[in-house]
Amino acid sequence: MFHVKQPENPEPTASFSLDDSPIARELADLTARRRVLDAVTVTLSGRTRVITVSNQKGGVGKTTTTVNIAAALASIGARVLVIDLDPQGNASTALGVPHTADIPSIYDVLIDDFPIADIVQTSPESPNLLCAPSTIHLAGAEIELVSQVAREHRLRTALDEYLSNLEERLDFVVIDCPPSLGLLTINAFAAAGELLIPIQCEYYALEGLSQLLGTVRMIQKHLNPRLRLSTILLTMYDGRTRLAQQVAEEVREHFPQEVLSTVIPRSVRVSEAPSFGQTVIAYDGQSAGAVAYREAAVEMVRRDTTTEASAASNQHGTTSAPADEGGQ
Ligand code: ATP
Ligand code: MG
Repeated sequence: MFHVKQPENPEPTASFSLDDSPIARELADLTARRRVLDAVTVTLSGRTRVITVSNQKGGVGKTTTTVNIAAALASIGARVLVIDLDPQGNASTALGVPHTADIPSIYDVLIDDFPIADIVQTSPESPNLLCAPSTIHLAGAEIELVSQVAREHRLRTALDEYLSNLEERLDFVVIDCPPSLGLLTINAFAAAGELLIPIQCEYYALEGLSQLLGTVRMIQKHLNPRLRLSTILLTMYDGRTRLAQQVAEEVREHFPQEVLSTVIPRSVRVSEAPSFGQTVIAYDGQSAGAVAYREAAVEMVRRDTTTEASAASNQHGTTSAPADEGGQ
């Protein structure tokens, strides 16, 4: 009869320690990244950066990026206003700001000329984090705007007035756009200096991007020459799949200047946070998703100062640093 001889003192054949496991390595890495973040100091530019977060593709992480970048910026001392320009009102929900139909909202600003100051609320998360909420009324605004005077510039006019009358300057305005290239998004493009495109690391990630960039070129030509694509953020990254790695590589190849080195991982904590009316920074600030958004925020602040410094040195005729191409 076939017999398997057992060793007298069975020993594991390969030495395996928990410290070598991928999870242990990930945790060690996360702990190191948290330490770096806790020690980080950033210098804000001293002016108000208006950033619109847009991608007409649905569900790519626009709202998640808007609120978490905004909260991360607020946590490092920046004063931030989030403008919720999506009738779904998800950004208002995530910031814990009431936005029922009876609340004055960005709809009243766009359609009835309310000053932004009259609708802004402070998020319970931080006194540095403000929100101009959206309500369900905004669903009709796309159509109502069509017949309005200066329909593409209504947000910009209201924002300019708000910013110039503030006692304490804002460092950032971050605008969450709906998944379309309609008049609401065009109002955001006309009001902003920068465009941040979140790209989900999935199949079809780049589909529709050329249409988005085409629209941006039209806006630059006809409505807002200051608008530039400053930032691309890879979201919902799952490093275990080859597809996510391929998408990330492809996007970096096309947009080497704009893609942040920080990548936002797919994370349960990130998707849970809005149901508690919180950003992931408040909900679980030490989680992998929160750490990534905090790193992305630091990178955005630092990149801007680097760009400014190189522009300034070029203006003064010292061209040691290569000029930032900034284009697509
Ligand atoms: P819409 O086009 O409808 O406005 P969106 O582009 O704003 O969508 P989000 O609402 O931010 O996208 O995200 C879509 C879904 O993916 C949400 O359920 C959100 O919780 C989830 N999600 C976003 N980022 C992550 C992440 N890093 N990890 C896990 N889930 C995420
Ligand atoms: Mg959204």
